[in-house]
Amino acid sequence: MRVGVLALQGAFREHMATLARLGVEGREVRRADDLDGVQGLILPGGESTTIGMLMAEYGLEDALKQGSLPMFGTCAGMIVLAQEIVGSTQPRLGLMDMTVDRNHYGRQRESFETEVAVSGLEHQVRGVFIRAPVVTRTGPGVEILARHDGEIVVCSEGRCLASAFHPELTDDTQLHRLFLDRFVG
Ligand code: GLN
Repeated sequence: MRVGVLALQGAFREHMATLARLGVEGREVRRADDLDGVQGLILPGGESTTIGMLMAEYGLEDALKQGSLPMFGTCAGMIVLAQEIVGSTQPRLGLMDMTVDRNHYGRQRESFETEVAVSGLEHQVRGVFIRAPVVTRTGPGVEILARHDGEIVVCSEGRCLASAFHPELTDDTQLHRLFLDRFVG
């Protein structure tokens, strides 16, 4: 199995390291060619406006918008997967029928860590939230996998999985494993 990690900006090295820990070959993806032979793609956290702009600039947007590749978006990656972003027209893939609110936790709680129970996972995961979004609307095809304080923080639709927090910044590999097992197959 070979899994790509979008490596335009943000925390892609940490995802590469997590894949390595799971014994899965990772490939840094910057151009459309890099997608050849990958069976899934991780969209890392970072700055969603920058990632969206660079995706278009590097000619990746069209290839990815087809939606045939399983994708796992974390934090900014979740934002990039969403159809609607509150108050923003920034470029996105829009593969998931949902609305996200960027930087939802505001200044008071810009970053925090908390345990999150994700349905289908045996143990709670340590959620590292950094200027994290939440999902404020989901279409009928979206499955909600976890909430924190009532807000949706992990969900999936079709071939896409999204989390508002950063599983790659901990040594907990449960969510990556879920992605590999259930989405990449
Ligand atoms: N706040 C960032 C954004 O809107 C996401 C932060 C992150 O990925 N840690 O893109």
